[in-house]
Amino acid sequence: MIYIKTESEIEKIQKAGRIVANALQEIKKIIKPGLTLIEIDKFAEEYAYKNHAKPAFKGYHAFPASICLSVNNVVVHGIPDQYVLRSGDIIGLDYGIELDGYFGDSAITVPVGDISESAQKLIDVTRESLDLGIKSALVGCRIGDISYSIQHYVEGFSYSVVRNFVGHGIGRKLHEEPPVPNYGTKGKGIKLEQGMVLALEPMVNIGSPETVVLPDGWTAVTRDGSLSAHFEHTIAITKNGPKVLTYPDSYEP
Ligand code: MG
Ligand code: MG
Repeated sequence: MIYIKTESEIEKIQKAGRIVANALQEIKKIIKPGLTLIEIDKFAEEYAYKNHAKPAFKGYHAFPASICLSVNNVVVHGIPDQYVLRSGDIIGLDYGIELDGYFGDSAITVPVGDISESAQKLIDVTRESLDLGIKSALVGCRIGDISYSIQHYVEGFSYSVVRNFVGHGIGRKLHEEPPVPNYGTKGKGIKLEQGMVLALEPMVNIGSPETVVLPDGWTAVTRDGSLSAHFEHTIAITKNGPKVLTYPDSYEP
């Protein structure tokens, strides 16, 4: 069941989304070698409560933290621990909050100190693939058009798109129908309608697309150990085109 949102619901999701995006920008500013993942989690948790919101991930299927922190070969769902960030790392920050009964969800991958050219390229291509996916999210198009545009762009750089994790509908729940894969065929899948709200989230590996979940039940790593990046925006399908609901206050389109 896909829940179509009213304009006022989309506004509420945007309010939540803006808090998420502002938090990610603040976290990006404090990321530096020497910081532990636990410290970032504490910041993320407090940021939600300071903004009268609830961290959406904490306790979600028993996830133990307020933010997913995925370093280097971790694809998604990394659990913040005592790991100390080092120059050269890349870190995926995936954060969600609930405000007034509505959810926002967004992710960015950022460099720690000085990173290699190949790591920076992976980050750039992943972010660009999300932008292309968003541009394909037009009324009357299909989920497969989003999926295809992401996959086609990523594979043009000989990177691979992760299959085991996908984007999703979002609104009154963190994860709603429909799934939004980052791979697929143009013209296939569910038709996009005005009022759908989707979280698009390409996960891109330098090596093979395969992932393995560690014994903690959450941390998904690349099977071949290669670097992985992740970006995510919550967007609404509107008659005026896709509307990104997870831009920070500082962003001027
Ligand atoms: Mg997310
Ligand atoms: Mg998500």
